[in-house]
Amino acid sequence: MSDSKTQRNGSSFVNPWSSGFSLRQSAEAILKGPLTRSTPFKVDVEPVKTVECDLEVYESEEAKEGVCATWLGHAGFLVQISGHVRIIFDPIFSERASPSTWIGPRRWLAPPCEPYELPEVHFIAISHNHYDHLDIQTLKDIHKRSPSAHFLVPLGVKALLVDELRLPDDQVTEKQWWESISFDIDNTQVNFICTPAQHNSGRGLLDQNHALWCSWVARCSTSTPNVDKEHSGLSLLSLRRMTANIYHAGDTGYTTPSGPCPAFSAIGKRYGPFDLAMVPIWRGASLSILGQMGYRLTAEATHTFLSTLHASPRDAVSLARDVRAQHTLGMHFGTFCGSEDESKEPLVELLDALEADHSRITGSESNGRKSTNLRESWKEMGGFGIIDVGQTITIKSK
Ligand SMILES: [Zn+2]
Repeated sequence: MSDSKTQRNGSSFVNPWSSGFSLRQSAEAILKGPLTRSTPFKVDVEPVKTVECDLEVYESEEAKEGVCATWLGHAGFLVQISGHVRIIFDPIFSERASPSTWIGPRRWLAPPCEPYELPEVHFIAISHNHYDHLDIQTLKDIHKRSPSAHFLVPLGVKALLVDELRLPDDQVTEKQWWESISFDIDNTQVNFICTPAQHNSGRGLLDQNHALWCSWVARCSTSTPNVDKEHSGLSLLSLRRMTANIYHAGDTGYTTPSGPCPAFSAIGKRYGPFDLAMVPIWRGASLSILGQMGYRLTAEATHTFLSTLHASPRDAVSLARDVRAQHTLGMHFGTFCGSEDESKEPLVELLDALEADHSRITGSESNGRKSTNLRESWKEMGGFGIIDVGQTITIKSK
C-alpha cells in the first residue's frame, strides 16, 4: 500500500491510504471547545531568531566533505551536498505567504538575506503549491540569480512555473511519487526521488488538490575508475560511491485514523539512512491568527483537525525515526506565526517529545527535567534539533 502512487479522483489527487478523521470525530472536538487561552509554558525556551547568513562556510574544507545547510526560514533550505551540488528547497522571502501583499499570514521573522545574495544553485525543489512553499516572487528572484537552475516539482505544478517564470519546458521536471531523475554535475551523479507526503494542495478555491504534493530525496554519488582484476586487469570498472543522501519532507501530516502514515517507513526502507532530514514541526502559517488573539488549539483539536495535514513535534520525531534520519532539523515553524507564544509552542512540544522518546528508549524517567539542548541535539547520531534562520551547519556524510 505504501508504495502505491497517489490516485486521481476525477481532477483531484488523493492519498492512497485513509487520511482523514470522520465528521463525528471532528464534531466532538468542536463541542469540547477547540481553543484554550495561552498561558505560560512549564519550561522556558529560547525562540528562534534571524541571524545574518554566513555563506562563507560553503567554501570551507568541512563543507566540501559532507552536507552544508542553511535554514532560510519556514520550509526553505539551501543545501550543498558532495562539496559542490547546491539545492534550494521551498524558499519564501516575501512578507506574506499569500496571493495578496495586503492580507494573509505575515512574517514573524525577517528573511536572513536577500535572494540575490544566495550563492548560485543547480536545483530548486518545490514540495507543493501552497503559498508558503511556492512563492512566485522569491522564485523569480532566485531564478534571476541562478538562471540555469533546474526546477523539480510534483505533478501539476510545472505549468504554473513555466508560465510565471517564463521558463523553457525542459528546465522544469515534474514527477509522480516514487519517480526519479538523475543529473550529472561535474562528474557527480545527482539523483532526485519524488517521495510521498500526507498533505493537500491548492492556491484558490477552485483548484483544491488538482496538483500533487510530495517530499524529496536527493542523493549524490561519484564514480571512481577501478581495475577489474578478475578479467586480467585490462578493463576498467566504474565504482559508484554514495557521497550524500538527504531528505526534505515538505509539508506533511504523520497521523492517520489507523496509526502512522505508512509512507515514511517505506521511504526509510528504500532510501534511508539520510545524512540530514528537514522535517516540519508545526502547522506553519495556516492558523497564526489564533496566536494573535492569545489562543492555542487544544491537544485534542490539533490531533483531530490538523494531524493528518501537519506533523506535530511528536509526530515529527516519529517521522524522522521512520525515514532513518541520522540528523534532523525542525522547520516550518517560527517564521510565519502570530505571536511569541506561538513561536515557542512547537519548541516546548519538541522538548517534550524528545524527552519522552529518550525515556521510552532508555526506560528512565525524565522527571519533567528538560535537559535537551535543542540547538545541539541534532548533532548526535539520530538526533533532532533546531537552528536559527540564517544559520549554516555542516554534517559529515557517513
Ligand atoms: Zn502546505
